[in-house]
Amino acid sequence: MSFDALGLYDELLKTIAEQGYSTPSPIQLEAIPAVLSKRDVMAVAQTGTGKTAGFTLPVVQLLSGGASPQSKSVRALIITPTRELAAQVFESVKNYSRAMNIRSAAVFGGMRIEPQISELESGLDVLVATPGRLIDLYKQQAINFDQLEILVLDEADRMLDLGFIDDIRHIQTLLPLNRQTLMFSATFSKAIKSLADGMLNDQILIEV
Ligand code: AMP
Repeated sequence: MSFDALGLYDELLKTIAEQGYSTPSPIQLEAIPAVLSKRDVMAVAQTGTGKTAGFTLPVVQLLSGGASPQSKSVRALIITPTRELAAQVFESVKNYSRAMNIRSAAVFGGMRIEPQISELESGLDVLVATPGRLIDLYKQQAINFDQLEILVLDEADRMLDLGFIDDIRHIQTLLPLNRQTLMFSATFSKAIKSLADGMLNDQILIEV
């Protein structure tokens, strides 16, 4: 099975080839078409399975060609539990955005907030964020979610382990109901199942 059959644009296939990936991993094989079909997705996949490209590729494609975001707006929000993961996911988004005219940024704690506020000023297609910094930016009125189309929760189980459940539930109340939501988790515990049921609609369940 090759990447060609997944419904990705030629520009993205070219970047994938340049990157040296020849075959999609099992999670990519299932997640990419599911996300492109605009359904909500609950994916149970460990780190190292290629899960990151499993959502960054189709998210970048879905956003390409859409209306530009207004000031302080974001069209896709990817929430990660740690700064390291935010930086890693942002690298993937940037890589696939190169040929696609997508504006993206990453915001997390431990860095000055002012440059992050400036980046948001002109609006973004994709924002990768950790929960605490995202809430700080919202409180400072540096961001709004009126134009949010896609929410991704990456490593949701770690998010719960690190005590971010209240932050996530708070962020959920700020987002439009009419959005696509993707949740990735290494485990599918009762707590994750219940979080998924509260945040996703008619989701496709993928377990690899
Ligand atoms: P992840 O699970 O997203 O953290 O990815 C784990 C590693 O696999 C990363 O170093 C990726 O660059 C690599 N990777 C992702 N997808 C593929 C693929 N289809 N073929 C080969 N390597 C991949």
